[in-house]
Amino acid sequence: GIPLLAADAPPQTKREFTSDQEVRWCPGCGDYAILAAVQSFLPELGLKRENITFVSGIGCSSRFPYYLDTYGMHSIHGRAPAIATGLATSRPDQNVWVVTGDGDALSIGGNHLIHALRRNVNMTILLFNNEIYGLTKGQYSPTSKVGQVTKSSPLGSVDQPFNPVSLALGAEATFVARTMDSDRKHLTAILRAAAEHRGTSLVEIYQNCPIFNDGAFDLIKDRTQQEARIVHLLDGEPVGVGPEDDRKVLVRMPGGRLEFVASADAAGADVVVHEAGAEDPSQAFALSRLDSPEMTHVP
Ligand code: SF4
Ligand code: MG
Repeated sequence: GIPLLAADAPPQTKREFTSDQEVRWCPGCGDYAILAAVQSFLPELGLKRENITFVSGIGCSSRFPYYLDTYGMHSIHGRAPAIATGLATSRPDQNVWVVTGDGDALSIGGNHLIHALRRNVNMTILLFNNEIYGLTKGQYSPTSKVGQVTKSSPLGSVDQPFNPVSLALGAEATFVARTMDSDRKHLTAILRAAAEHRGTSLVEIYQNCPIFNDGAFDLIKDRTQQEARIVHLLDGEPVGVGPEDDRKVLVRMPGGRLEFVASADAAGADVVVHEAGAEDPSQAFALSRLDSPEMTHVP
């Protein structure tokens, strides 16, 4: 297990988890808000900094480990889940996190991501989804919308995007969540739930890229637009989910059936739903399965 911070240790704050490195994202990038939320959340773990490791791949988001005063590794494109799996299985004294983006996790690293979710070792994967390649200056990504005009799709993207939540559910992930960079309260609640979950947690974070895909998630902040997003999770099955039902989330029921449930106490559901709350502007949610199989790879 991971040694806890001594009871008489001085209390930690965001400052203890902030490195001396100059943050080099573009002005206004959603990554800043996510970084601040993570730095402020980490003291809650009650762990020493040397018992926490952030592994990233390649992309704008993958600069993340430089800015945290923990252990970290800016690793290989798409391979952060594999490296983190090795670390999590060989170093039980480490609390392991992955920071990745839509290009890194879903294109070159797609296989590593789904197999990490399938193996279900104890780690938390933060997938910053800005629906664009930012670091390489604005090409369409595996989550770019159909018709999206980018530098590599001047007439609009013709490819159907991945829905990372659906993908994770398909890989039988035991914790799946979606949240937003601009929603600090919900983002922090999701970080907490994901860190508490034993097994691999996948947290998709909608992240605005003001340079190459500005405003991609503005519609989601509009409650009247939530239906389209939620129904998309059902892969075409017609389910009437309106703004008044925005606390419903799609979950996998025993036997593999997909169903919307309304709350953590939904009878018969094999999931715990960590709700966004009625005040939440996004349709963000998280869920974790109670029937997670025993983890075979955790020493
Ligand atoms: Fe952020 Fe976009 Fe700049 Fe990358 S290119 S740092 S995602 S604003
Ligand atoms: Mg991206």
